[in-house]
Amino acid sequence: MAKRVYIETYGCQMNEHDSERMLRLLEGFHYTETKEPNQADLILINTCSVREKPEHKVYSALGRFKKLKERRGTVIGVAGCVAQQEGERMLDRVPYLDLVIGTHAIPMLAQLLERIEVSGQRVCETRFDRSGEYLKASLPEKPLVKVKSYVTIMQGCDHFCSFCIVPYVRGRERSRPSREILEEIRRLAEMGVKEVFLLGQNVNGYGKGLEGEVDFPNLLSRINEIQGIERIRFTTSHPADLSDALILDFSKLEKLCEHIHLPFQSGSNRILKAMHRGYIRESYLERIERLKEVCPPIAVTADVIVGFPGEEEEDFRETLDLMKKVQFDDLFSFKYSPRKGTRAAQLQDQVEEEVKQDRLAILQKIQREITFERNQVLEGQLEEVLVEGLSKQNDQDVTGRTRSNKIVNFPGDINLVGKLVPVKILKAYAHSLRGEITSPLTPSLSPAGREGRMTGLPSAFRNP
Ligand code: SAM
Ligand code: SF4
Repeated sequence: MAKRVYIETYGCQMNEHDSERMLRLLEGFHYTETKEPNQADLILINTCSVREKPEHKVYSALGRFKKLKERRGTVIGVAGCVAQQEGERMLDRVPYLDLVIGTHAIPMLAQLLERIEVSGQRVCETRFDRSGEYLKASLPEKPLVKVKSYVTIMQGCDHFCSFCIVPYVRGRERSRPSREILEEIRRLAEMGVKEVFLLGQNVNGYGKGLEGEVDFPNLLSRINEIQGIERIRFTTSHPADLSDALILDFSKLEKLCEHIHLPFQSGSNRILKAMHRGYIRESYLERIERLKEVCPPIAVTADVIVGFPGEEEEDFRETLDLMKKVQFDDLFSFKYSPRKGTRAAQLQDQVEEEVKQDRLAILQKIQREITFERNQVLEGQLEEVLVEGLSKQNDQDVTGRTRSNKIVNFPGDINLVGKLVPVKILKAYAHSLRGEITSPLTPSLSPAGREGRMTGLPSAFRNP
């Protein structure tokens, strides 16, 4: 008989994608998804430990599900970075927890569940898999009704920034062979997926350690040739490894969307050094300048941390200054959160919580204004929008994204989902745009078409 699984996900796209992989795997073992935890036979919490707050959420979620365990005997498991980090300690701390499954153990999920069922034992599996098997399980087993899909190209990180837990919970950098990635994307295209979002903690490191493998710019060129795929995005690129070859891809590859997420973390060279980021503000700004030179319409987003140990007012001012210089389209900003086992957590000069809070509020206020101004620039322009679905607010509207990754809502119906349409932007808001669909014009998607796009001649018209 079919069983029901409820998955709750915290954290980044990598975690969202891991949840999807777990769901796909479980579907092969007669599980169906439920959005109602109280109807589930299995509850999985996919966790994030990059900052303290999401880590706390895991324990409060487990608290919420305790009653279900008592009432219905629901099997409860924790996956992801907190599971990897805490391992057996989680089983000790939460007596009704059945399963702790680390970041490399996802392909073993069904076997581990079977073991719990047969033996009645609680199970913890957090070994790192040196064979690379854990990267494999992402090929979809059955058709997806989706417009866009994440595709993992590599996992782990060798950078060891002093604040970051990722290398400890995701392991070292490991790439998937390009033939597997290309095969997965071809399958996704056959299933109707139009946009692929390539995932890796450091996509620039793609191919490292794989004999005879292509590098990341070359991988992008090959994906660009896959029929049916209309858009390519990726995250995350590390500023220290952002090569000229990758930057040039933005002018050469017509499917590569004009958006880059390039975390800078701090605008102060003193702090960047303490973070072990491997670049200085001047080189970051030089890379941005080069990107804008090669691809003028490119949208740039980033991550930034305030209150890293030892951050003085002057350092913070340099962060604000860098933000103003770049004019980011959007920014993910975080208060520094000490992570056990990282080098920065041992530094003496931790910044007070109140100071971090104030700096974050100042920074976010400035960024809100910049984001709004960046959105306003698009008013009156024609943009290519990939329609992702009906709007959540109103079923007379559809919602989609521009190539620069901005959300656009406009009147339309379900038949538009999955289509690339030309939309005139009527109004900019803080986090989205409002538009109206316009009649198709002449197509233009040559590299020179990028210039056209900038002046409002989207490529969408190829695919009415
Ligand atoms: N690999 C990506 C890079 O280097 O740009 C980032 C991956 S990390 C999961 C996402 C973001 O979380 C980082 O860019 C950083 O801004 C933030 N982050 C990581 N560790 C943090 C910490 N200890 N405290 C606050 N923010 C943190
Ligand atoms: Fe963490 Fe730095 Fe690696 Fe990004 S590059 S995942 S911030 S260690």
